[in-house]
Amino acid sequence: MVEFCPKCGTMLRPQRESNGRNVLLCPKCGYRKEVGKSGKYVLSQDIRHSERERTLVIEGGGDVRILPKIKGEVTCPKCGNDEAYYWMMQTRRADEPPTRFYRCTRCNHVWREYE
Ligand SMILES: [Zn+2]
Ligand SMILES: [Zn+2]
Repeated sequence: MVEFCPKCGTMLRPQRESNGRNVLLCPKCGYRKEVGKSGKYVLSQDIRHSERERTLVIEGGGDVRILPKIKGEVTCPKCGNDEAYYWMMQTRRADEPPTRFYRCTRCNHVWREYE
């Protein structure tokens, strides 16, 4: 089974960590996906990054989510900041890939990947 990095499109490499967990690692950007013991992917861990990169974001409705942050790969169309939180959302038909959303860490402007 071949899996591709949702962040940069590089082919993920299966790897066994020191704690015995099987993971898929992106050699390019460090994206990490945990694989269950049966070999099935753990659905709730679509977007996983190291602890350092995780940031707690409090949404307006009191909904607390942890979103990964990227820097240098995007530019906020509003203020030009190159650092943003991102997440994936299924906005179109289920057979199409989910859209990636960004939220500027400086001005909180939210935009989509394909706009
Ligand atoms: Zn990657
Ligand atoms: Zn901004």
